[in-house]
Amino acid sequence: MLAVFLLFSPSFTKDKKATKITFDEKAAWTYIRDMSTDEMRGRQSGQPSGVMGEEYVASKFKEWGLEPAGDDGTYFQNFTIEHRHVAEGVKFEIITARERRDFYYGDSWRIQRYSGSGHFSAEIVFAGYGIHAPEKKYDDYAGVDVKGKVVMFATGSPQKLAKELGDAANTEKKIEAAQKLGALGIIAFQPSPGTGRFYGIGVRKEQYDPDFVILSIESHVTDFIFKDLKTETSYLFSEIDGKGEPQSFATGVRAFVSINSIFDEKRATRNVLARITGSDKKLKDEYVVIGGHMDHLGVSPMGDVYNGANDNASGTAVAMEIARVMKLNNAKPKRTVVFAGWAGEEQGLLGSRYYAEHSPSIEKTIAYINMDMVGHGSGNVPFRGEYYGPHIWELLEKKLPKEIMEYVKPGRGGPGGSDHSPFLQKGVPAFAIMTEGHHFKYHRPGDDIDLIKPEILKRVGDLVYAAVQILASEPGDFIEPMRQEAYYLKYEDLTNFKFEPLAHVVKAHGDAKDSHVDLQVAVVEEKEELSGAELRADIINNLFDLPERMKKAKGLSLYAPNRSISMNSRQGKTTVMLGLKGVDSFRDNPKWAKILVEQGLHFAVVEDSSFLFGDGGLSEEGKTFIPAVNSSGLLLLFKGLAAAQTKVLLEESKKPMVFLERKLPDKEILELIKEKEFVLGLILGADEDPAAYFKKLNDAKEAIGSRYLMIVNENCLWGSTGKDQMLKVISEMVKEKYESMDFFYLFSSTFTGVLRRAGS
Ligand SMILES: [Zn+2]
Repeated sequence: MLAVFLLFSPSFTKDKKATKITFDEKAAWTYIRDMSTDEMRGRQSGQPSGVMGEEYVASKFKEWGLEPAGDDGTYFQNFTIEHRHVAEGVKFEIITARERRDFYYGDSWRIQRYSGSGHFSAEIVFAGYGIHAPEKKYDDYAGVDVKGKVVMFATGSPQKLAKELGDAANTEKKIEAAQKLGALGIIAFQPSPGTGRFYGIGVRKEQYDPDFVILSIESHVTDFIFKDLKTETSYLFSEIDGKGEPQSFATGVRAFVSINSIFDEKRATRNVLARITGSDKKLKDEYVVIGGHMDHLGVSPMGDVYNGANDNASGTAVAMEIARVMKLNNAKPKRTVVFAGWAGEEQGLLGSRYYAEHSPSIEKTIAYINMDMVGHGSGNVPFRGEYYGPHIWELLEKKLPKEIMEYVKPGRGGPGGSDHSPFLQKGVPAFAIMTEGHHFKYHRPGDDIDLIKPEILKRVGDLVYAAVQILASEPGDFIEPMRQEAYYLKYEDLTNFKFEPLAHVVKAHGDAKDSHVDLQVAVVEEKEELSGAELRADIINNLFDLPERMKKAKGLSLYAPNRSISMNSRQGKTTVMLGLKGVDSFRDNPKWAKILVEQGLHFAVVEDSSFLFGDGGLSEEGKTFIPAVNSSGLLLLFKGLAAAQTKVLLEESKKPMVFLERKLPDKEILELIKEKEFVLGLILGADEDPAAYFKKLNDAKEAIGSRYLMIVNENCLWGSTGKDQMLKVISEMVKEKYESMDFFYLFSSTFTGVLRRAGS
């Protein structure tokens, strides 16, 4: 190792006369080496090993003279994380009358989330499903004493009694019972083996007790516990399931357990931040941020160290080396450049999220570049994020040197997987770099320094260094208005409810690439003078050349229930869903609805529906029409119904429908919508004030939840009027802290969901 060390020693004093020092991959390699030694213990945030990693990065920034950019003039940004940790050196043995066997962690048993610590040898009590519900006349604890013992119980509940027992069979209640009755811990197992390994039993953090262990075992351990007993689990469970009677007993078998497992809701940890303050009077208040996560997985319960050389000492090291070289070159960027080492990435992007949500500079950050796993690969360097920051990519594409552009592979990008995500969600154009090719020993012991290729570090370093210089010094305004709103518009699947004829959709948007409209509803053309059989024939005629028309439209893809809209979006295509305007084509013979559905039509918008209603209920025609449509799978969207008519449909239709409304229906109707799983499409009028609209939307959401509610725009979302109006609605949603799930439903999923329910 020494020879290698000397060979790759950084050349800090290299060629003093040269005007510019370039990115030194050998130097970067040494930081990775230092961060991935066994002494670093895998840099787990919240552990002493994490602190070591943080101190290392900060000490280098200090050594090189970078300005601190953390709290109170330090390099550290302090925050707390929810932290779970199992210390190495765990032990689990089963002691029967005849022998004692040690079981291997991971393969044979696991420590469940929110388990506490325990060091004991105690008898195992078999307690069926572990259900304690005497008030419901079922108690797996009746007649057995579990105080000071370990309870062994199966996941699930007796099938026969599932209904009666209700939530008494929840894991939560089972654990509560074992704790209350004085057990030292529980061992969960699966009653019928082969239902999957490494299962989680769903413990909640409120149940954490530092002295109560929660373990799960694989079927061969269960078999070993029962080896010398004169009974077996298959028999016991056939009795329990068959007769509904508990079969609990003290086994006489003992478990030896030794584990240190903690859960801390507020464990201190730190991001490491340094900067070079911008030289331009105005632009210095704008930021370019580069970084990667310093933390990794620590040490396994069995004592294996996860060194994380590639994941992600590599990305951290490249950011560090760029900082060092910029400082040495006495760089004077116009904007402020921030160098970040994130903590808590492996525990859920916690450090970068904290930064994105708590650093005021985020509003003035023009771009973020993330590096995660950049230590080996084929040599190509993907640079993902083009779709979310096209103006940033445009600039880089123009200005990056040719020799760098040769190996850079731009990509659409988007949130997920690493620390660029929280930046994107704040509207900051964020790019993710992970080198192309196979990443060896991902999240395994063995992700070590000897797998790191300096020439790959060099490619990434040259790219990011050049990009930072361009971004930090290019004059101009790169902070787009409403960029956080624009992120949601782009990321979430959005439906354009402007019901345009298909020919218009193909003509106007056929060549669209990467539109923010993900789902476009379109109606098949109808000749106004036709109705009944003639109109049907004409519609079906129109559908004949549909494949041909769609093929010509490169930016469009026809809706198919088994193909996700986002899949099309990621390929730059808008999904088109075809339907009917009105029901004239099958009103005379409603059985035709089914045929039309088979031809690829999914919905009909009904504006004139008076024919459906009679005295206080459905008309005679309605009584045949509604059941026929129900069984066809066609979704009806009603416009302009009176409250009484809405109620009739809610009561009479067996399948869900959509009510398109400008005003909020009364409480009774809202309750029925939710109960019957119908949908309210709240119309966003062409001239409507977005804030006023949001108030209605929010009231509706409170009443029925976002699953039965959708935003129905009147303005076309391809045009700037519709888009601006929608951005303002999104702005209100962001202010009200709507979650990703809410966007998901209100924009498209409520609609595709009700469509599926109508067709099932
Ligand atoms: Zn990583």
